[in-house]
Amino acid sequence: MPLTREHVYRRDGHRCVYCGNTQHLTLDHVIPKAKGGRTHWTNLVTACRACNAKKGDFSLEEAGMALAHPPYRPSFLMLLGHYAGPVQESWLPYLMMA
Ligand SMILES: [Zn+2]
Repeated sequence: MPLTREHVYRRDGHRCVYCGNTQHLTLDHVIPKAKGGRTHWTNLVTACRACNAKKGDFSLEEAGMALAHPPYRPSFLMLLGHYAGPVQESWLPYLMMA
């Protein structure tokens, strides 16, 4: 799966993983680049501008913030599901096994 901004947004359901906001979305490095965090599926999440600014170069613990779900590398099938339409939350465990 190519790692693109749009694919990360799709994986996270176009919602901020910190507060659920669907507006002003940005990409956030969970482990900040300044602390050696890599640009990778498992370190990139969808975050709204406000949460991204609040978190800044802090780790989750330092910022006192929590992820709605841990970032993961989506399967091809899963992104395909997103292209076909919204994926039911209850399907996700099955799609992630693919
Ligand atoms: Zn947010």
